[in-house]
Amino acid sequence: MTGIETKCVQSGYKPGNGEPRQLPIYQSTTFKYDTSSDMGKLFDLESDGYMYSRLANPTCDFVAKKIADLEGGTAAMLTSSGQAANFFAVFNIAEAGDHIVSSATIYGGTFNLFSVTMKKMGIDFTFVSPDCTEEELNRAFRPNTKAVFGETIANPVLTVLDIEKFAKAAHAHGVPLIVDNTFATPINCRPFEWGADIVTHSTSKYMDGHASAIGGCIVDSGKFDWTKYPDKFPGLCTPDESYHGVTYTEKFGIEGAFITKCVAQLMRDFGSNQQAQIAYLLNIGLESLHLRVKRHCDSALKVAKFLEENENIAWVNYPGLESNKYYETASKYLPNGSCGVISFGVKGGRKAAEEFMGKLKIANIETHVADSHTCCLHPASSTHRQLSDEQLVDAGVSADLVRLSIGLEDPKDIIEDLKQALL
Ligand SMILES: *Cc1c(COP(=O)(O)O)cnc(C)c1O
Repeated sequence: MTGIETKCVQSGYKPGNGEPRQLPIYQSTTFKYDTSSDMGKLFDLESDGYMYSRLANPTCDFVAKKIADLEGGTAAMLTSSGQAANFFAVFNIAEAGDHIVSSATIYGGTFNLFSVTMKKMGIDFTFVSPDCTEEELNRAFRPNTKAVFGETIANPVLTVLDIEKFAKAAHAHGVPLIVDNTFATPINCRPFEWGADIVTHSTSKYMDGHASAIGGCIVDSGKFDWTKYPDKFPGLCTPDESYHGVTYTEKFGIEGAFITKCVAQLMRDFGSNQQAQIAYLLNIGLESLHLRVKRHCDSALKVAKFLEENENIAWVNYPGLESNKYYETASKYLPNGSCGVISFGVKGGRKAAEEFMGKLKIANIETHVADSHTCCLHPASSTHRQLSDEQLVDAGVSADLVRLSIGLEDPKDIIEDLKQALL
């Protein structure tokens, strides 16, 4: 079973004889055992099984297994949101006094998480341009750096990460590269094939795909050898006294240590596991991910080409356009398509963009992206409305910028809608 389309449908839950065809929802907080010693073995991580859904749940694990297969990883876990996935992926290996190198063009929520909330926890971040030279990138590292972070395709600015460049620098400094692969999805890019070590997702976007369920996922490639740097990663390489002295790398190998620690220690303490019903919805989304992502990308390219030729449009940003700065990088890492999100400027600035948005009929005004409904957002009059035109430029969001997420409708209808709104 090697085709990614087959994995979307078949990986994860495999029913036995006479068992339900669709993934069962294990709607239970807790699990029953015959003897205390059976349960004791679970607490000692001596046997596989479930005790409490705050840490782990079978429905979630079947879906995590599918995503691990899609990404080509060895272990995975679901989280309550994409925010939780990125927080735990970093916090699993960094603590107060540590430092992370991150691409500067990342999702706004992640930027806040890193630069405000995690900074309060004592973790420092250095943000570098995704276009920096190798030299500039190497200069960002410190002796206490524990990881490098970036997004395959950044939301919303659509920069494309040179994964090999970032992986090379991370590995030269003995730390893993964590890549948020939300926009590309494993259909269009599998960062592990280019040297990334940990992949995260907001499953709330294309994976769920129907704007129905908030969720996240962390996947481990199983390739990063923590045991080569025991001083950098004591949480993985020395006994966890809060877990009966288990040493995760010894007991679970480099393929399993990262995810097991994150579940056993961080889910136990923070309780941000995904809910079984959400995982069920996510799994339904994953079954058609390959079909939907292709359609989102094909339609987005058509719309981007239409916009590029329209006289009322000032500029178009879409990595699939030959005129785009990232076209070559995208051709290398995303040969089958990039994503369904486009940004562009309407001639006439803030006011013209607002008027244009008001005339749209098919494209709904929403803060979401990456689901089956075409939707759009004018940051200058909504999410960023408190900022002046100058402050908007500093935030990388011009006053005329419209973000458009192409859905699964007939692309001809989407183009007609844009056409009439641009008149
Ligand atoms: C939406 C998003 C997140 C946050 O995910 P939530 O599920 O909304 O918490 C993180 N990274 C990227 C790239 C996103 O698009």
